[in-house]
Amino acid sequence: MPSTPAPSPSTGAPRPPLPKAELHLHIEGTLEPELAFALAERNGVKLPYATQDELRRAYSFADLQSFLNLYYALMAVLRTEDDFADLADAYLARAEAQGVRHAEIFFDPQAHTARGVPIGTVIRGLARALDGAQETYGISTRLIMCFLRDESADSALETFEAARPYLDRITAVGLDSAEVGHPPSKFKEVYALAREAGLKCVAHAGEEGPPAYVWEALDVLGVDRIDHGVRSMEDERLVARLAADQVPLTLCPLSNVRLRVIDDLAAHPLPAMLDAGLLVTVNSDDPAYFGGYADDNFTAVRDALGLGEETLRTLARNSFRAAFLDEATRAKYLAEVDAH
Ligand SMILES: [Zn+2]
Repeated sequence: MPSTPAPSPSTGAPRPPLPKAELHLHIEGTLEPELAFALAERNGVKLPYATQDELRRAYSFADLQSFLNLYYALMAVLRTEDDFADLADAYLARAEAQGVRHAEIFFDPQAHTARGVPIGTVIRGLARALDGAQETYGISTRLIMCFLRDESADSALETFEAARPYLDRITAVGLDSAEVGHPPSKFKEVYALAREAGLKCVAHAGEEGPPAYVWEALDVLGVDRIDHGVRSMEDERLVARLAADQVPLTLCPLSNVRLRVIDDLAAHPLPAMLDAGLLVTVNSDDPAYFGGYADDNFTAVRDALGLGEETLRTLARNSFRAAFLDEATRAKYLAEVDAH
């Protein structure tokens, strides 16, 4: 659902989107029907959909479980290094058109190793696309390796050990998939190993799970950022802590509506979170499934919540403030926002 850029007052030409960093993006969630069919054909995988239109209709899932069923079914088309490189390259091309200047990209190794795809195939394929991103799309990139929280703590530890030869390609570890019943503390050991190895740490928390999970992510896992964290607003003491420490929260507004975390975008707590002094950012989560990429999310919250230019600029600045960047690069991107 691409947005129509607003015409610029001086020339009438479409104004380019605000420069921004994408900090919450699952690469598996960028698989569009066109690429799914192309890869299925290349790999001789039979999809349970006759046409792209039929598949596109399946993207209008009813709930979290039907989303996850489709999400995992489609992953069957991802088999070779080329497949992962093509997936990441297709995302980067879309991201460039959305004003993304820096992308920190999640991947789920267990979703692939469980199907017999070696972790090295996944990482080498993604890294190949990311290596060319600066030159081809003008986008700097980082990779974040996520553990599936509905799998065991031992499986996360095995995954981390399997990834050791590739840790120079990985900036951070994360935690995703079905949240409720799988508190962050379950993964204390693997996060300690990741920090020992010099990696940054993030975790999904407070999306469907309670504020207690956000506390655990902060105090037990020692995370640098919280992914989602919308339910933090239910706990005043937690809001004060997040504001005082300026812990970034990577919000995904269109995802929240599609997964029924929020009933209506107009009721999203984003403005209240900004008012509370929280360092919030706007991201796209699984954009092929949730109705839009990074700038589509900016446009959607602008329209639904009536956000002004300066608030959108604050959100763009926040995305670079929250990114895992060296200070010179961060300053360069912040200047691009100011100049926009
Ligand atoms: Zn997510």
